[in-house]
Amino acid sequence: MAATPIRRQYLSIKRQYPDVLVFFRLGDFYETFDEDARIVSKELAITLTSREMGRGKRFPMAGVPHHALDGYLAKLVNRGYKVAICEQVGDASLARGLVEREVVRVVTPGTVVEPEILDHKKNNYLVSVVKDGPEAGIAYADISTGEFRVAQLPGPALAPELDRLAPSELLLPEGLTPETTWPPAPVTRAGPSASDGDEAERVLLEHFAVTSLEAFGCEDLPLAVRAAGGLVDYLRETQKTAAGVLAGPSTYSLDKAVVLDAQTRRNLELFRSAWRDEVEGSLLWVLDRTSTPMGARLLKEWIGQPLLDLKALDRRLDSVQDFYADGVCRARVMKLLSKVGDVERTSVRVQRGIANPKELMALKRGLELGPEIKAAIQEAGLNGVSWALDSMPDCTDVADLISRTLMDDPSTTVGGGGVVRPGFDAELDKMRNASSEARGFIAALERDERRKTGIKSLRVGYNKVFGYYVEVSRSQLSQVPAGYIRKQTLVNGERYVTPELKEFEALILGAQEKVEELEEAIYRRLCAQVAASVGKIHDLAGALALLDLFSSLAEVASLYGYVRPKLAEDGAINIVGGRHPVVERVVGEGVFVPNDLHLTPDRQQIVVLTGPNMSGKSTYMRQAALITLLAQIGSFVPAESAQIGLVDRIFTRVGLQDDLSTGRSTFMIEMLETARILHLATPRSLIILDEIGRGTSTYDGLSIAQAVIEHIHDDPRVSAKTIFATHYHELVKLADSFPRIVNYNVAVAEEDGKAVFLHKVVPGGADKSYGIHVAQLAGIPRAVTDRASQVLERLENGERPSPGVVPRAEDSRSWQMSFFSLPAESSPVVKELTEMDIASMTPRDAILKLYELQEEAKKGRGAE
Ligand code: ATP
Repeated sequence: MAATPIRRQYLSIKRQYPDVLVFFRLGDFYETFDEDARIVSKELAITLTSREMGRGKRFPMAGVPHHALDGYLAKLVNRGYKVAICEQVGDASLARGLVEREVVRVVTPGTVVEPEILDHKKNNYLVSVVKDGPEAGIAYADISTGEFRVAQLPGPALAPELDRLAPSELLLPEGLTPETTWPPAPVTRAGPSASDGDEAERVLLEHFAVTSLEAFGCEDLPLAVRAAGGLVDYLRETQKTAAGVLAGPSTYSLDKAVVLDAQTRRNLELFRSAWRDEVEGSLLWVLDRTSTPMGARLLKEWIGQPLLDLKALDRRLDSVQDFYADGVCRARVMKLLSKVGDVERTSVRVQRGIANPKELMALKRGLELGPEIKAAIQEAGLNGVSWALDSMPDCTDVADLISRTLMDDPSTTVGGGGVVRPGFDAELDKMRNASSEARGFIAALERDERRKTGIKSLRVGYNKVFGYYVEVSRSQLSQVPAGYIRKQTLVNGERYVTPELKEFEALILGAQEKVEELEEAIYRRLCAQVAASVGKIHDLAGALALLDLFSSLAEVASLYGYVRPKLAEDGAINIVGGRHPVVERVVGEGVFVPNDLHLTPDRQQIVVLTGPNMSGKSTYMRQAALITLLAQIGSFVPAESAQIGLVDRIFTRVGLQDDLSTGRSTFMIEMLETARILHLATPRSLIILDEIGRGTSTYDGLSIAQAVIEHIHDDPRVSAKTIFATHYHELVKLADSFPRIVNYNVAVAEEDGKAVFLHKVVPGGADKSYGIHVAQLAGIPRAVTDRASQVLERLENGERPSPGVVPRAEDSRSWQMSFFSLPAESSPVVKELTEMDIASMTPRDAILKLYELQEEAKKGRGAE
């Protein structure tokens, strides 16, 4: 036989989990083998060893101690790996030969629930996708909160939606592979329902015990149903208890939300700064003053999905305004909220039977705070937010149940007697007393025996093998009485048992066993009772999240001087004294220069923005997009006043980035994105275009830029509100011929020949770029910037009618080569040539003149 039995057992399990790292329990370790071991040792920086497993053959092995599993799991799962935990399921002491092992759970990035692994400020989405022709179905769930949502959407809307969700794991049916435009995520094959609509319907009806899909509003959305079915299949198969926590799927539609594609999310730095790729420096960073994990998660959701629904937005703004106006109530509510904890995720852990008693007590405190918060708001008479209070159930009955059952500060483990409140269960109290009485007896017995025998060193101890014993040191062994039964010899003494000791021991152990049994049963019952109220707890968590978010937005508004925007169904964007919410925090108080913006569809649809490098063009354009976005999540905005006609999409095309991963050039990406915008924009959209055409030659770029602007102006299907920043000053002329194009520029003052950026946007076009000045600021060597100034001067003096290389002074060759392209007045040879009347010359005279001119030209070269 080649392999050892354990190797064969391992291989048969590994065969069932080919794409998963198998953690195989061997004694106190989880071991991995072969390729898994190589990966694990590299990822976790642990030693790669090997183990002999038959016929002297060694196999790679790497292991982690069982008690440290969570930390290692966190690392692997966060890096996108899936891990199957394979435990010994038989009793090792009873097993003859090989102990049985089986995979008890598969931990995947989309299904983790461990608080150590999850980011409490972020949802963790498992996303199932199906595609059929031009349509797609999507279903996503966060099994740490129970949220489950489904939608059917047009194919092109899929990538932005996936980007919004940032899936931790993607479930795809056989045959569907991720597209390059999707955010990267580990892929798992979805269950059979993803490919079979009837099966999907059957699974959903059965799992949620309903008779019709109308219950979820997805009866006419076959692709959404398939995606949802695939997700439920997968959870039921691999995660068992996880499937039980899902709420029935709720159907959503993208019609009521502003579409933000992946580029726009990144360009506007909504969640992470572009510079360092971290939360600091992003819009989220400025806005997040939330006090609960639920509020923080909701804030992320809102930023990622601004609304188009005027009524809903006004409701949100009314609520923010209430908290804005009453700072005392706001401070009180925020303080109470900061003690609430993660009611939502904890209740799901209770439901799955994995919450410990301390977590349950924390949940209790959160539940108790609900009515207190409600009372604080009602006492302050805040009306605008009353709608959120209406949806807030009272969960004090659940809190009471927990506090009646559990000790104030219970231990984390159930069964040791430190969990259930004394007085809750008479039988348990009796057993606990019996156990502690017996302990008391044993303590007394130690004293008695010492006295009776005169052995001072005598002490009673306990270990797992012998139970209770009496220990006597070697020097006093002669005094040991006859009734002691010797059990163990030590270096320094002996251990004995006595009949009396064994009697108490039986009492203690019996009582302890009973305590363990009772406590476990009571705790399990409590969890089940709490789980029965999980719907209500989720509603409370939802309401608390709203209050948290409103008070947080009001806090930001009050701290940074934001105002309530006036919203209209559509139409103009009029911002007075607008500021960039993030840049103003970075440059410091009072430094940021506010600017106005007026975009009106009928008069001022397109702003062509010119201005030197570094003057603040990008900041100005992004601030317009961010103020609009803030208004459409229901937040106050950084401005003196703002009137926002709701926009259906925000498009941004800014910066030059190479997409190395797809091998597309900078210019190609720029054009792809511009094409998308021109296809998808509507008259209700807001478009931000920064330097379109910069990635190619000047004439190509200028022509494309001009044509794009004209198209946005002229095509009634597009005609979106647009800000177009450009370095092509030629484009300012467009305003003369197109009625809805206006020019703005960022003002610059010149002091001692140096540019001073005023960051003030004013009407009119700019005429100068100051690029060399910026190059100087950036530390380009003096020799280079001096030469650049020289070249620029010659270009500006018209020595070159078109862009091209200005030769070095000493390089007369190329200079001479191109002298015909110079204007006549700049060269006597050219002048004479142009003035010559060739028709009236004899051929000989002409030839002579040609020689003469050539001589002149040669002299000119020598002189240079
Ligand atoms: P480029 O054309 O080189 O891309 P730009 O004109 O787009 O430059 P920005 O990147 O918007 O310039 O701004 C450059 C810097 O100027 C910002 O990082 C910021 O520090 C500062 N700045 C921009 N606008 C303002 C303002 N309104 N008030 C104060 N500082 C500002």
